[in-house]
Amino acid sequence: MIDIRNITKEFDGNYVLAGVSETIRKGEIFAIIGPSGQGKTTLLRILGLLERPTSGQVLLEGRSIIHLSDNDPVRRRIGMVFQNHIAFKDSVYNNIAIGLRYRRFGKDEIKKKLLQKLDEIGLTGYENRKATTLSGGEKQRVSLARVMITGPDILILDEPTANLDPVSTEVIENLIRYYNKELGTTVIMSTHDLVQGQRLADRVAVMMNGRFIQSGTIFDVFTRPCSVDVAKFIGIGNILPGKIIRKENGLSVILTHDIEIHAISDIPEGTMVRLAIRPEEITLYTGPAQLSSARNVISGTVTDIRPFGIISLIGVKSGDLNLSAQVTWQSINELDLKPGIQVVLSFKAPSVHIMQEGNHHGCL
Ligand code: ADP
Ligand code: MG
Repeated sequence: MIDIRNITKEFDGNYVLAGVSETIRKGEIFAIIGPSGQGKTTLLRILGLLERPTSGQVLLEGRSIIHLSDNDPVRRRIGMVFQNHIAFKDSVYNNIAIGLRYRRFGKDEIKKKLLQKLDEIGLTGYENRKATTLSGGEKQRVSLARVMITGPDILILDEPTANLDPVSTEVIENLIRYYNKELGTTVIMSTHDLVQGQRLADRVAVMMNGRFIQSGTIFDVFTRPCSVDVAKFIGIGNILPGKIIRKENGLSVILTHDIEIHAISDIPEGTMVRLAIRPEEITLYTGPAQLSSARNVISGTVTDIRPFGIISLIGVKSGDLNLSAQVTWQSINELDLKPGIQVVLSFKAPSVHIMQEGNHHGCL
């Protein structure tokens, strides 16, 4: 539906966008994730027709949209909600009605559409409230209604739940899902919240240094990060340097801190690599080795216990190798885990993700 072709954007001699390409499909939720300052907002403002790229093209159903005049009807197909919800010092009603008045809809029609939108966003009865007195979550709902009331088929959202509490976040996420699934709206959004990307998006792209470094399904990106930077950003707890020292029974054997780890990889023997192992993929037990299909079994000493809500990360040291494993608080009690005790870690070969060092093997 939208073809983004090699977009760059320069501000004061700096390239904030350094060549972004992607195809957004009709009806999908596409999320741009990445640390702050990487160009997400700049790209969304270009797609929202608020900014023009320095070079490159944006095609909507094959037609270039980067030089549309201010009153081109194609602009109506695209609605954008900004990161800092703007509420005008006026009633909720007038805040939402702006776009329809601008388009010279009749009073009765505006009222009918407006009451329906208020119901949709769960703010029935709020029409006369001053918008500036609403909570952050309510203001964001009003911003969504203001944009959606004009009927765009593409909705652009810049960090729609930044600074909102979990309950308001859920309300906004449900509205985004509703607009996407029930109204068929194509959604392009940015978020620094990975879990939100996981909850909402059909596809994600990771933006770093003004480029999409990786894009794909949530599963692709979250299980197969293309580089150490992406692996760190998506929060893979264990990232280790290593070298592929041999191939054995279809597996790669990687030496890291004098310990051999078995993994699945087609990277050739002799290559320097990085390993990424999620703490949630590592099983921890005490006592004698248990019968397990896991290819990797490492014994070590507990160094520290870091609680994260109902789960904890257990730091384990084996020689020079440090790994974190995730366990529940119940296991901590049952196994009587504390610093200094001996434990065994096990994980399967497919749980080890291999990245090639340096050349960002597999990145865009
Ligand atoms: P993100 O949304 O990923 O945090 P932004 O697109 O907001 O990133 O910003 C990326 C970079 O571009 C930042 O370094 C920011 O300071 C710079 N930038 C954004 N807009 C402008 C502008 N209008 N003038 C100059 N620099 C800008
Ligand atoms: Mg931003």
